[in-house]
Amino acid sequence: MGGTGGIGGMTAVAESEALATLHRVFGYDSFRGEQEAVIEHVVAGEDAVVLMPTGGGKSLCYQIPSLVRPGTGVVVSPLIALMQDQADALRALGARAGFMNSTQDFDERRVVEAEFLAGELDLLYLAPERLRLDTTLDLLSRGKIAVFAIDEAHCVSQWGHDFRPDYLALSLLGERWPDVPRIALTATATHATHQEITQRLKMPTARHFVASFDRPNIQYRIVPKADPKKQLLSFLREEHAGDAGIVYCLSRKSVESTAEFLSRNGIEAVPYHAGLDAGTRAAHQSRFLREDGLVVVATIAFGMGIDKPDVRFVAHLDLPKSVEGYYQETGRAGRDGLPSTAWMAYGLNDVIQQRKLIQSGEGDEAFRRRAAAHLDSMLALCETAQCRRGQLLAYFGQDPDPAGCGNCDTCLTPPETWDGTVAAQKVLSTVVRLQRERGQKFGAVQIVDILLGKRTGKVIQFDHDQLSVFGIGEELSEAEWRGVVRQLLAQGLLAVEGEYGTLVLTEASGAVLRREREVPLRKEPKKPAPARTTSSSSGRGDRKPKAAVAELPESLLPAFEALRAWRAEQAREQGVPAYVIFHDATLREIVTVWPTSVRGLGGISGVGEKKLTTYGEGVIAVLAALEGGGPGLEGGAPGTAPVVAGATGDDDQWPEMDAEPEPDGWM
Ligand code: ADP
Ligand code: ZN
Repeated sequence: MGGTGGIGGMTAVAESEALATLHRVFGYDSFRGEQEAVIEHVVAGEDAVVLMPTGGGKSLCYQIPSLVRPGTGVVVSPLIALMQDQADALRALGARAGFMNSTQDFDERRVVEAEFLAGELDLLYLAPERLRLDTTLDLLSRGKIAVFAIDEAHCVSQWGHDFRPDYLALSLLGERWPDVPRIALTATATHATHQEITQRLKMPTARHFVASFDRPNIQYRIVPKADPKKQLLSFLREEHAGDAGIVYCLSRKSVESTAEFLSRNGIEAVPYHAGLDAGTRAAHQSRFLREDGLVVVATIAFGMGIDKPDVRFVAHLDLPKSVEGYYQETGRAGRDGLPSTAWMAYGLNDVIQQRKLIQSGEGDEAFRRRAAAHLDSMLALCETAQCRRGQLLAYFGQDPDPAGCGNCDTCLTPPETWDGTVAAQKVLSTVVRLQRERGQKFGAVQIVDILLGKRTGKVIQFDHDQLSVFGIGEELSEAEWRGVVRQLLAQGLLAVEGEYGTLVLTEASGAVLRREREVPLRKEPKKPAPARTTSSSSGRGDRKPKAAVAELPESLLPAFEALRAWRAEQAREQGVPAYVIFHDATLREIVTVWPTSVRGLGGISGVGEKKLTTYGEGVIAVLAALEGGGPGLEGGAPGTAPVVAGATGDDDQWPEMDAEPEPDGWM
């Protein structure tokens, strides 16, 4: 196989088989980051443990060895519902992929078994619970295995949130097939999980590859929570109209009500949580993968293994329990490398609720301490006045850029800080007075009402207007006081107690009251960004992807839209997600380069051999049908919707093309 740069074997440097496969099958120019090292290592027959962030490109790390080494790559994945899509995506690339799981009937499974035994599969996907069955192990022993890939390997960790007992049985693979290389992959990055994977999967000699965890195309933003649903709505309308995305909420109830709220306001959204029946869940997940621009509102039950590349935003309406969880969830945005947003609304009640959950939750003292430490790191991220990405990377043991990332809210609009020592003392003294003078404990609302001198029913009922601290805080607004309380909680200068979330002092509070310690605080924005009332034109049928085309010149938008329409049609006909045909990033490059022949199309990233043969003519016809389209050509009135031949499936009216792809050097 020749390289992309050479003709008929005239390449200067002999290309490795792995690189040739990358070009030919996947249509990509070069490996990313650690991919090449990992793939070479595994192709050579060695074990590997791979830590890469979501979207980092883990799949190629086992797919290419499976294609290059003799035999079938056996991929262990916990995600039965996604196996069909994974296999479809590989088949669309011309790879021979199959899966065996409980969604198939006996006959379907028999076909796959036969294909495997006949050496006709490049990749075979299996769930761990199936793999460990004697019948499966027996089947595998009768065929040839190229590599074992253990995806989502953090599921082996008993402490993690995704623990799958069946993963523990995977340690037998090394014993039973000592000569078959194993590669374990995960996006979870902490050292502890890392150790556990190595030990429990019995891979002591595996080489470890740790990729950079930076995801520069994701913009990180955390905003103060005021009216979260409305804030979410304006965020979506202003920045992500028509985009696909995930909204995470903590409870099933808020998942339901948020999905309903968005739908009522013209943003098509479906709920997903463990309380829905399996059929509904599968249907919603499938719609998310297949449709352009659907929003899924979900608990954390949703998302693992979702490899939809064009998720343009991940929004959190509630505080995640740990930085790891948060980073995994936000990492589901922008796998295609295009600009994406991780947006979170965070407020005082989040802190109180999470602290309460930990206290009243199950588990022993050690478990509670661990949970509290996780929460503290999450709160530090929310309250930081420094670069958010810097803080995230540091959390994962990476050195951040001291100059900041330039793509997070604190870098874009540096927050002001102020000396909150006196304000902190006022809050703490109020808590002290209530307890010492009255023997009472109250929550944040009452404390703030007292400071503001509000004579509410509850203030009068308890005579709190008689306290000496009553009304001593009129210099700050209610939102600002809530901000002070929130930050004191986050900094551990105040604690939450009991089921009502009453506020109590901590050991560290004393130093503040005695003026031995200063309390720098982040300034609360005077008022949160107003929920702009736009007409709900962004309703159904008008799903224009805003972020995905942010950097495309206006004149190319009609072509991009036309290609998307063509792609949607193809996807519908074949019953596969649109991204299985081409990613948005590939469509963008196509309209930018504007190839006029099938051969020219072959040079575009993401267009491999199989896709060129299958879709080459179709794409060129769409471009050709666009009047005055190409870059630099005047006349294509921007904004006018193009009429696309072929979108109706009427092949006959397509112009004649040089249909035979004439590849140079890649046959
Ligand atoms: P992960 O499994 O680590 O979350 P994926 O394997 O799904 O990530 O890859 C993320 C995205 O990056 C996919 O859309 C994939 O096609 C793309 N990708 C991976 N490797 C390359 C590469 N070398 N060149 C271009 N695109 C790549
Ligand atoms: Zn930054």
